Amino acid sequence: MGNLHIYNTLTRQKEEFKPLLPLRAGLYVCGPTVYGDPHLGHARSAITFDILFRWLQYLNYKVRYVRNITDVGHLVNDADEGEDKIAKKARIEQLEPMEVAQYYTNRYRKAMELLNVLPPSIEPYASGHIIEQIEFIKKIFAAGFAYESEGSVYFDVEKYNKSNDYGELSGRKIDDMLQATRSLDGQSEKRHPADFALWKKAAPEHIMRWKSDWSEGFPGWHLECSAMGTKYLGDTFDIHGGGMDLVFPHHECEIAQSKAALGHRSVRYWMHNNMITVNGQKMGKSLGNSILLEEFFTGNHPLLAQEYSPATIRFFILQAHYRSTLDFSNEALQASEKGLQRLLEAGERLKKITPAALTTITIAELSHKCEAAMNDDLNTPVAIAHLFDAAKEINRVVDGKDSISAEDLEKTNAVFDLFLDKILAVRTDNSAEKNLEAYTKAVDLLLNIRLQAKQNKDWATSDKIRDELTTYGFTIKDTKDGVQWSVVNC
Ligand code: ZN
Repeated sequence: MGNLHIYNTLTRQKEEFKPLLPLRAGLYVCGPTVYGDPHLGHARSAITFDILFRWLQYLNYKVRYVRNITDVGHLVNDADEGEDKIAKKARIEQLEPMEVAQYYTNRYRKAMELLNVLPPSIEPYASGHIIEQIEFIKKIFAAGFAYESEGSVYFDVEKYNKSNDYGELSGRKIDDMLQATRSLDGQSEKRHPADFALWKKAAPEHIMRWKSDWSEGFPGWHLECSAMGTKYLGDTFDIHGGGMDLVFPHHECEIAQSKAALGHRSVRYWMHNNMITVNGQKMGKSLGNSILLEEFFTGNHPLLAQEYSPATIRFFILQAHYRSTLDFSNEALQASEKGLQRLLEAGERLKKITPAALTTITIAELSHKCEAAMNDDLNTPVAIAHLFDAAKEINRVVDGKDSISAEDLEKTNAVFDLFLDKILAVRTDNSAEKNLEAYTKAVDLLLNIRLQAKQNKDWATSDKIRDELTTYGFTIKDTKDGVQWSVVNC
């Protein structure tokens, strides 16, 4: 069955995956910071590691997959200053921080379910592991790599770098980093600008706070993953994953923390998925080009020409290799929608073929080729290309131009079933997805009736539809491009 090779960000090369324990794999992935609705970037990371989770299981590994929920400690900027993202949202919305975290965790899980992303084995919350994080800081202290300043605790990067290589994952050099961050000097409690917070003393207005030896405060963001990763997967574990934007500072800091506290690296293989771009530009909230998953599913976004089903989004993501950038456009998504349809149809046609005595199409190597692609650093686009080639061959049989033997037919069916249902997992009998589609169509239908009523100057009907939908929690906006609708958030 061949061996899995994965690209290790730390060593910058493809390596054969050799687990710590035979046929067991420990996988830790940085999950979402739950202060907003999930967008396409969340989907890419979750789907990338869902494929790894599924493929490892197919290779007979027993996988413990830990994906955390960040509900505390992630500040609005990376310089250890500013408000906690969740606390800020809570203040604006006048909610408890845990209400914000719960609401967006629920929304995230729902979206992942629609995308057919399997739930992880353990989904720990940062706020539920404060004691572990405090213990972790104490170990770093005992090793001499932490210092206290005004009730906060910082990691001593300069001291660590004397005996270790801070920057080994990101390839950054500490001198450059010091240069780049020098402007922060003035107000800092830190000895060196490159130092990062392990514990922050809470300002009086800060809601999320816990008691510690140093102050009433909260843990630094990077710490949670070191603490929870080692708690559930051991002091050394196999794979740590996340988006490429987490390489620095988040994962660089995790490596430093673990080496300082434990005296060795925790993670053996680092894997990072690349980012999504919109017309070549990075997708981001601040850039105004970030599209929420819900907006894809309903088609309600100015950049979207139509709605796209969760399966289409999933297939679109898998048509690029996870280490390549993926550029969003309506044309690309529409091509994915059609491509997926073609594959699903080939899967259906296969089931109806009557076998012949001989196989006259090129199909024998399909299973081997798809497996080889997956074992080559999860190369889903190549696996999909092999399935497309097979689909063409199958169509020749359906059209009566060629034939396939019973044995080859059975094998080909097995490959299609495996990839469509279990690995790519784009063939779903997902009732949630169907419900969503029906719901979207029903609302669109009502709004079209309203539009017609308006054109006929039947104000009573048009007002009734708008008012009633508003009572049910919908917001309806008339724009020059047509009507936009959404369901009111908390
Ligand atoms: Zn993390």
